[in-house]
Amino acid sequence: MEDKVYDVVIVGGGPAGLTAALYCCRDNMSTLLFEPMLMGGMVNEATLIENYPGFPNGINGYELAATLLEHAKKFGLKEEIAAVTSIKKDGDIFEISSTAGNCKSRAVIVAAGSNKVKLGIPGEKELAGKGVSYCATCDGPFFRDCSVAVIGGGNTALAEADHLTKFASKVYLIHRRNEFRATSIVTERVAANEKIEKVTPYKAVSIEGKDQVERLILENASDGSKKELTVDAVFVAVGISPNTDFLKDLIPLEEDGTIRTDTNMATSVPGLFAAGDIRYGSIRQVISAAGDGATSAIAVKNYLS
Ligand code: NAP
Repeated sequence: MEDKVYDVVIVGGGPAGLTAALYCCRDNMSTLLFEPMLMGGMVNEATLIENYPGFPNGINGYELAATLLEHAKKFGLKEEIAAVTSIKKDGDIFEISSTAGNCKSRAVIVAAGSNKVKLGIPGEKELAGKGVSYCATCDGPFFRDCSVAVIGGGNTALAEADHLTKFASKVYLIHRRNEFRATSIVTERVAANEKIEKVTPYKAVSIEGKDQVERLILENASDGSKKELTVDAVFVAVGISPNTDFLKDLIPLEEDGTIRTDTNMATSVPGLFAAGDIRYGSIRQVISAAGDGATSAIAVKNYLS
């Protein structure tokens, strides 16, 4: 990290942050990008992205992340593998604190993405990494010829259930309502997959096992009756929440933790822009994250000049 005032600091290395970085670097803005984990962010966990334009056969999330990073680096991106812990503004200058040290910039694009929502039920925390997982792409291959459960009724849960049938002999799809909120193409694919058994309307009440997941205890959402499933793994896919805690002292957040912006991705703090999943009203798609990233970078250029 150089001791200078950067034109722009980008927080987050997912599709929004990497696209913003590509635009900023290509436009000769001095740019530093922070990412605490793996470049590409949550997109790394998608087995197959079928709705990102330009890839008619779909693309694996890990490959897309690598391509986005390579593209930004081609124009000179400098990245810091560290978590941003707070951002303050002094006059026109932002002061960014991170786990790797502090730096300053004239503008900030926050594209920090989301965290996976936890169920908060007994056994979830205790058996995390011992059969409880939040990523089927990462952990699915460990459960070859096993029985597994997926909890959730959105696009992630249904895509993960379908993906897991490549390894597991049986996949229970647990959802608290009878209707799924996933898109029809994914819902139809799941309906046609003989290895998937839908278990609805059921809520998971606890996950049990001695050293490893052994059972999932369910409660019927209509009549309260209980049911037990013998499973080797439980994949939790009950949504995502924006990673914006570190911004609480800088900008008011919406009730769901997102940040409100105008159509240029500008927030109510001059010089602070937000892009991707953390933006209020985001449709939370890879393509919209990339679009937000491009818009925010162009807006930063205009702001700086
Ligand atoms: P989501 O769409 O918010 O769905 C979360 C699911 O979990 C819902 O079905 C919800 O039930 C259920 N749920 C929430 N809290 C629960 C709890 N405590 N116990 C049991 N079930 C619970 O989340 P997501 O599937 O992770 O998707 C996040 C965003 O990314 C969405 O906007 C989605 O469209 C997008 N996404 C897009 C793609 C794609 O386009 N290829 C792929 C993945 C994700 P209810 O339905 O009853 O609320």
